[in-house]
Amino acid sequence: MDYDNTGYNGYEDEERVIGRSKQFDDRDEKTLRPITFADYSGQSKVKENLKIFIDAAKKRGESLDHVLLYGPPGLGKTTLAGIIASEMGVGMHITTGPSIEKTGDLAAILTNLGENEVLFIDEIHRLNRSVEEILYPAMEDYCLDLMIGKGPSARSVRLDLPHFTLVGATTRAGMLSAPLRDRFGMIHRLELYETEDLMDILNRDAGLMDIKIDESGLRNIASRSRGTPRIAIRLLKRMRDYALYMEKDVIDKEVSDFGLKALDIDNIGLDSVDRRILTSIADIFKGGPVGLETLAAVTGEDPVTIEDVYEPFLLQNGFIAKTPRGRVLTSRAFEHLGIPEPVNFKERNRNAFENLSIDSLTDNGSNP
Ligand code: ADP
Repeated sequence: MDYDNTGYNGYEDEERVIGRSKQFDDRDEKTLRPITFADYSGQSKVKENLKIFIDAAKKRGESLDHVLLYGPPGLGKTTLAGIIASEMGVGMHITTGPSIEKTGDLAAILTNLGENEVLFIDEIHRLNRSVEEILYPAMEDYCLDLMIGKGPSARSVRLDLPHFTLVGATTRAGMLSAPLRDRFGMIHRLELYETEDLMDILNRDAGLMDIKIDESGLRNIASRSRGTPRIAIRLLKRMRDYALYMEKDVIDKEVSDFGLKALDIDNIGLDSVDRRILTSIADIFKGGPVGLETLAAVTGEDPVTIEDVYEPFLLQNGFIAKTPRGRVLTSRAFEHLGIPEPVNFKERNRNAFENLSIDSLTDNGSNP
């Protein structure tokens, strides 16, 4: 659902409490977004780089070079775009790829920008081709080539634009066309957050929302949020309700344990669908390999949803591995599910495991 009129519908995981895309619960996100680098936790490499370039652009009195931010939803791309604008001391215009339908729409947006301002385009990989093509000269030479009229009387006019910074955000950098990608001066990938960084974010947001939470509650929520601030903040709001239900003033270990269990989120942030996928591979396919379509059929999920929504976290955390013959479980997954590994399982899938870090395969490999 499009809760903020940005045209962004997210993935199909919108009803999961640990889904990364925007949900109704997140509608007040704007009030929580930090507007300075100081309040933006984690992502230190990206921040360091941006600070240097912003500083240099300000000293030269020029606009900042165009920036592409990529990574899964909820990691802070929109927030970072806002920080870039406020640190540059300029305004920001927000739009999304799919909502710019015609070249005229983009022309209207670009001609309304002020000098050095930031234009944020979310889901930029979903821009249509004709719109994308008029973006090239705008990004490169700050000008717009427009066709006026039709047929033999058509003529092209060139309009000068103010210097501006395009901040593009995408969940899928691979889907961006090469000519568009090449026109960004900076390309930054946002990483999943460490528990400590999520604790800082939760602590700050709990203060803003007047929610009382102690260290153990912060750690409990942060460690089960899939490294994603949007999920962490959503869980914090749900835990506030559980605290009320339990008639407790503070979200502590007891409240958060109770709440997370009630939401069926386990000790590392997997929910019932994740576990169903893992258990199906273990029970029905003896650990795999199993093809995506077959896995989708036995779990009753859509193949695209499995690939885009569930799998990235399971892959990133070494619960499954992708092989040319399909998905296979890792030792860590068997251990987490409490199911013994089939005999000769590792030997059968040696090739698949050679590409994984040893850590994720050892019996006591630490969970990230
Ligand atoms: P994206 O655009 O990548 O989907 P958002 O920028 O909308 O993500 O962030 C989602 C929520 O998480 C916002 O409420 C924002 O305040 C919070 N958030 C994200 N990253 C950070 C961060 N590094 N520090 C503090 N809050 C963050």
